[in-house]
Parts: sequence; C-alpha cells; structure tokens
Amino acid sequence: MAKQQGRNAYQWFTREITTRVNERLVMRNELQDAIDEQRLELYYQPLYDQAGDIVTVEALLRWNHPARGFVPPSEFIPLAEETGQIMAISRWVLERACLDLELLGARGHDGFKVAVNVSPLQFHRAGFLDTLRETLASTQLPASRLELELTEGVLLKDAEDAVDVLHDLRRMGIDVSIDDFGTGFSSLNYLKQLPISKVKIDRSFIKEVTHSADDASIVQAIISMAHHLGLTVVAEGIETEQQHRLLKGYGCELFQGYLLARPMPLEQLELLLRVGTELPSEMNQRD
Ligand code: C2E
Ligand code: MG
Ligand code: MG
Ligand code: MG
Repeated sequence: MAKQQGRNAYQWFTREITTRVNERLVMRNELQDAIDEQRLELYYQPLYDQAGDIVTVEALLRWNHPARGFVPPSEFIPLAEETGQIMAISRWVLERACLDLELLGARGHDGFKVAVNVSPLQFHRAGFLDTLRETLASTQLPASRLELELTEGVLLKDAEDAVDVLHDLRRMGIDVSIDDFGTGFSSLNYLKQLPISKVKIDRSFIKEVTHSADDASIVQAIISMAHHLGLTVVAEGIETEQQHRLLKGYGCELFQGYLLARPMPLEQLELLLRVGTELPSEMNQRD
C-alpha cells in the first residue's frame, strides 16, 4: 500500500516535471521565433520632473504572442536569462531604443533621454561596453542621451568587476540608475562609492506610502540619504494624486507611474510629445 502510494506520488512528480520542462521548452522556442521574426516590441514610459516635463522615457520590452497576447517581461526575461537568449534580446533592445530616440529627435522631440534596463548576464559579459559603443556609433545617438537601469543584484554580484564597468560608463558619459531600490541588500553606504546618478525607489514602497507610516519613513529616509550623496531620486509606480503630492513634498525629483502615463508604443509617445498632455485613456490602455 505504502509502496503503491510512493509509486503514484513518484509518477505524479515526474509527470509534473515533464509538463513544466515541456512548457519551458515550448516557451523558449516561441521566444526564439519572436526574436528571429522581430516580433518583440519596445514600449516607452515617461519619467516626469516636478514641473511636469518629460526628462526620460524608459524602454520596456513587450512580447506580443500570437496566441497568448502580451506576455509580461517578468515571465520571459528570467527564462531568457537562463537560456542565454537575453544576449540577443538585449542587443536588439539597445539598438531599437537608440534608433527610436534618434527618430523622435529628427521630428523635433529631443529634450529627454532614454533609459534601458540591463540584465545581469548582459552587464557581466565581456563585450558589454563594446556593444554599447558600437550601438551608439551606428545609431549616432550621443552617449549623454542614454541611461542604463541596473538592479542592486547586478552590482552585488561580482562587485569589483561591476565597479570597474560603472567607471567606464561614467567616462563614456552614460548615466546609471539603480532600479527597484530598497528591495536588494545593498546599503546607501555601499552606493556612496559607486559612480551612479539616480536611485529609483521600488514600487512596493510607493504603493502604501500614503497609508503606512513605516513605508513613509523608509521613503523619506531613502530620499534624504540619496540627496546627501548627490543622487537624484525617482519614485516609480505612482498611481494616485495623493502619492504624487506626498512624494513631491518629500523632495523626490522624478515621477513615473500609471497616474502620469502608462508604457506606450512609439507612435503614442510621439503623439503625447506633440500634444503635451496625457492621451484619452482608451487610446492608452495597453501596457
Ligand atoms: P522595471 O524596470 O522596474 O520597470 C517598471 C515596471 O513597472 C514596468 O513593468 C512598468 O510597466 C511597471 N509600472 C510602471 N508604472 C506603474 C504603476 O503605476 N503601477 C504598476 N503596478 N506598475 C507600473 P514591466 O514593463 O512589466 O516590466 C517589468 C520588469 O521587466 C522591469 O521592471 C524590468 O526589470 C524588466 N524589463 C522590462 N524591459 C526590459 C528590457 O528591455 N531588458 C531587461 N533586461 N529587463 C526588462
Ligand atoms: Mg527599470
Ligand atoms: Mg524599476
Ligand atoms: Mg520595479
């Protein structure tokens, strides 16, 4: 009896694993098709300053799957990291983002930068800086108009190597932001030694900032310490007027979130830049 149960559990277990492995394999192959057939897209979400001007647009990857619709990056980027497909994807993202910014510039919209998210594998690979240089040269985008967003995890892994790369980026004139700040294990004291220019306070702290005294204190402490270190502070995930107002009051410099603008395709961004205001919500729903 016990033996039988054990066997059943084992069979269930192997079936479960086989299903998961197959699902991942299918997803990996479909992702490869999307890369090969250029079916990945970049959306852009603006970062606004205190005066309400757009100072940066963050490039956010979208995979429009023929059957499943939009697959969120949180589902396919970790997979792409494991399979190594992230390398090809990242090269494409970087080039597309630079080209799009040049395109907007040619149409008279050039008063802002583009921020590109960098994956751990991409950052720690030899050749990362060369790829950056080549892309800037081929797209003709000035380095000063490109920003990179790195998470704390990227910098903590192989920290000495990471610091060298950061110094090279600074020499090249490329600004670096620490993304999702507060969720990792790095301290502001550690950041002090790094040539970075911004911290983006993670959305999880912003979410409850108007309700939770703890989160409000954490956010105020991050802002105050970041300012002491000469860093600009970005609040991501602003969804309500109250959050926006409160963070402005705390001295936070830049704001990003659904309240202000959702991630949008390039054509919508151009429209937004042209009319200068948020679009009617039905035109701006997908993200
Ligand atoms: P992230 O870099 O922290 O990007 C911000 C995420 O928050 C985006 O999710 C954005 O759509 C979402 N967001 C912005 N405002 C709000 C808001 O007010 N409320 C809520 N609930 N969410 C908001 P998204 O586009 O799904 O991207 C998720 C993550 O995937 C990104 O987090 C980034 O880590 C990664 N990612 C996206 N594009 C790329 C890429 O091109 N390369 C790499 N390596 N990673 C990427
Ligand atoms: Mg980011
Ligand atoms: Mg972020
Ligand atoms: Mg985040």
